[in-house]
Amino acid sequence: MVKDMTKSQSVSIRQRTCLQAMLLILAFCLSAHGQAPSRTRTELFFPDLPGSVTLKCDFHMHTVFSDGLVWPTVRVAEAWMEGLDAISITDHIEYNPHTNDIPKHLGRAYEIAKPGADALGLILIRGMEITRGEPPGHWNALFVTNVNELDTPDYHDAVRLAAAQDAFIFWNHPGWKQSNNKSVWYQEQGEALEKGYLQGLEVVNGGDYDAIVHGWCVEKKLTMMGDSDVHDPMGMKVDFAHGDHRPMTLVLARERSAEGIKEALRARRTVIYHKNQLLGEAQYLEPLFQGSIQILNPEPRLKGKGRALVQIHNKSSLDFELVLKEKHADISAPKKLTLPANKTSIMEISALTNTLDEQKTIPLSYSVTNLKTAPKKSLDTQLSLRPIFSSK
Ligand SMILES: [Zn+2]
Ligand SMILES: [Zn+2]
Repeated sequence: MVKDMTKSQSVSIRQRTCLQAMLLILAFCLSAHGQAPSRTRTELFFPDLPGSVTLKCDFHMHTVFSDGLVWPTVRVAEAWMEGLDAISITDHIEYNPHTNDIPKHLGRAYEIAKPGADALGLILIRGMEITRGEPPGHWNALFVTNVNELDTPDYHDAVRLAAAQDAFIFWNHPGWKQSNNKSVWYQEQGEALEKGYLQGLEVVNGGDYDAIVHGWCVEKKLTMMGDSDVHDPMGMKVDFAHGDHRPMTLVLARERSAEGIKEALRARRTVIYHKNQLLGEAQYLEPLFQGSIQILNPEPRLKGKGRALVQIHNKSSLDFELVLKEKHADISAPKKLTLPANKTSIMEISALTNTLDEQKTIPLSYSVTNLKTAPKKSLDTQLSLRPIFSSK
């Protein structure tokens, strides 16, 4: 075969082989620098509210610089691929089991992760986990400016100094190590709250939802936080193949920046995205729900006691589960209704009265059972229709 080739053919094959080798080396170099072209981002959609952008955030995670099992740049790549807008790497200040291999270097994870986060447009917030026995337990301090200052023998000093650095401080996984995982409000938390240091509580940590802590947030007016607290590679914790996602804090920020996030956290404008639920105040859940759905034909025609099909589109990444709260006198509507994410659903209605040749506004009262305003309390909302009742 080779013998039959012309000289120019054999040169062009050599050139091609050389080019292929170069491309292989290039591909290897790119992937070695974390820029594999196959990497994609799964976009999550929750609508922006009037005057704010809805940012998907995770404010609690670890790397090899404390007891985590991944390098800081991996946290950035994971977050970008999962559709997040902002993260904080919050390695333990006082617990560093890898120091035989990696020297204790507080804040180093942030420095390593920052260039990659900037390149991808991911907001990286400087944070640390103040890690003490219970009580007081573990506290995350976000937006810290001098992490070494917080490495103090007395926990009170650490929290006071973090507050002096204008950090946003929240109490992590309150139920951890408590009897039956039942969260207990200790004197230490009360003192920190009184001094204005304690501003938020982790209602969701990893896969766990804490109803007691949810109730405290409502009662004491503290910011609701939902974070992964991931130590392993995220793919070992979350079953992405089945559509699962990490827990997140949706921050309703006036602007897409670290400062915007800080202001919103202080103002308690957060909603937790946990499994197939949103947890937050009704004043945020209601516009998030209404901003996600669109009734495509809000003026259906009902002939006599006939039926009509109403199409409702849900553009968010969450399925909404609705249960009819009150029957309406004029039309019958489904007792249960699921509005799957990113799909248009059909709601069948029919006229109950012989109202003829009239158009009426009809608010159908539904509870959205997977939007929780407090433990075991669902968001009450309305689907507003304007059917035309006609005699023919
Ligand atoms: Zn912790
Ligand atoms: Zn942690």
